[in-house]
Amino acid sequence: MKQIVERARQAYATGKTRSLEFRLQQLRAFKRMFIEKEDDIKKAIKADLKKNECASYTHEIMGMLGEINLALDKLAEWAAPQHVSRNLMTLGDDVYIQYEPLGVVLIIGAWNYPVVVLLQPLVGAIAAGNAAVLKPSEVSENTAKLLEKIIPQYLDKDLYPVVNGGVPETTELLNERFDHIFYTGSTGVGKVIMSAASKFLTPVTLELGGKSPCYIDKNCDIDIASRRITWGKYLNCGQTCIAPDYVLCDKSVQGKLVEKIRETLKEFYGENAKESPDYERIISRRHFKRLLGLMEGQKIVIGGDHDEAACYIAPTVLADVNPESKVMQEEIFGPLLPIISVGNLEEAITFINEREKPLALYVFSNDKKVIKKMIAETSSGGVTANDVIMHFSVASLPFGGVGNSGMGAYHGKHSFDTFSHKRSCLIKSLAMEGVNKIRYPPYSLKKLEWTKFLLMKKVNKKKLSLLLLPIVAVLAAVVLKKYRWEMAGRGLQLVQACQRLCYNQD
Ligand code: NAD
Repeated sequence: MKQIVERARQAYATGKTRSLEFRLQQLRAFKRMFIEKEDDIKKAIKADLKKNECASYTHEIMGMLGEINLALDKLAEWAAPQHVSRNLMTLGDDVYIQYEPLGVVLIIGAWNYPVVVLLQPLVGAIAAGNAAVLKPSEVSENTAKLLEKIIPQYLDKDLYPVVNGGVPETTELLNERFDHIFYTGSTGVGKVIMSAASKFLTPVTLELGGKSPCYIDKNCDIDIASRRITWGKYLNCGQTCIAPDYVLCDKSVQGKLVEKIRETLKEFYGENAKESPDYERIISRRHFKRLLGLMEGQKIVIGGDHDEAACYIAPTVLADVNPESKVMQEEIFGPLLPIISVGNLEEAITFINEREKPLALYVFSNDKKVIKKMIAETSSGGVTANDVIMHFSVASLPFGGVGNSGMGAYHGKHSFDTFSHKRSCLIKSLAMEGVNKIRYPPYSLKKLEWTKFLLMKKVNKKKLSLLLLPIVAVLAAVVLKKYRWEMAGRGLQLVQACQRLCYNQD
């Protein structure tokens, strides 16, 4: 491990990632990998999760291509110095934010979307000019092995090495010094990562999970809500970090909801989901057994059948679930949907606020006021109203958790920001030394008054222009009278300069 990280650090130290052209070239090669190795990627994911190849394309490859295309398109704009407003003391200076790479980063992925959760952050890391050590999840071993083989065929081997292995290897990696750690996985391991990072004060992004609630208002089209929830819950066999974990609704809604989910499941997966090419499997026997444990003692109104040898659990709905039961104590991360009765919106909000802040929150209602109230009075990493999952697909929205569901965010420009240091730059000239007298000793009240004026006074642009314009006008009139028309142009320039001065100040 030591040598791998050291090699990445030496490659980074050559400075080649500083060039935007180099970053673009790596991103182009990365894009080519997804086009040329599409079939191999789909096969590996199928071997891990029994995922339909069309779904692999839409869930994993399409997202990657979209993210890379966006970075290719926008990198020059993202990386450009960002000029910021100045105060009266720095009016004549160059003041800007320069984005610079963090250095050598570590990206640790999870198994549920084994390509995208590992490689989507990498797009941001490359775009921002970092070296990145990649650690795929050992649980999705087929995809992990494939990525270890193909990534070095397209990306710089030293800058972007892939390290395969489980807990011992990850622990060994965490002993090394990184400039950022980007982790996707469970909240429990997130704590291990953060504690390891503290040794070197390494900043972390933690993309964790949690129980994402889904509130269904009485005033809602249950037909549509059920279809959307059924899609988002049973997608990837429920193994989606932002899947609706449980439903909160009025008791009167429950019966219709269950019937509509039953109909939709039939439409999506046929009479028997086990026979459907579109229904995935639980990743491992360990998770299979954990999920069976969560079903114990519950009122199963849909599904419940399972086959351990095939790691199959049918799409399942649990009705009248007691909030104190086991299934409500941990993230389900599988195809079980508990329904819990609440009397009204306020009760639903209290229920959500009494628990850890979730990664996602869903609300279905025809009433915009209900949606706004839910958003205003709760907290979560993200929200989608009248649908599920879809906020993930908007590259301009930061994707990440809050509180127990994680820290930091990524996607699109947010990934670039995550892997960049925003460096504050102020470039002054060596002229105008007289102005600086007010900050040098000996101190006096007069100097203090000037300092207050220059640094603390909020310039009212309108007032300042109203004040300056008559003065400028008088000046212009004098100039005009004296030097007539040949000077009129200069007078006008003076007026414009003064106006610019007023508008540039903040
Ligand atoms: P996992 O078992 O694949 O673990 C994730 C990574 O952590 C792996 O690379 C693994 O090697 C490493 N790891 C595991 N135990 C470790 C330890 N003790 N020390 C160091 N490294 C260790 O995945 P998981 O944790 O089962 O993933 C499921 C969780 O991930 C769910 O909670 C889910 O919600 C969350 N998740 C979150 C997102 C997101 O974007 N927020 C995306 C996918 C999954």
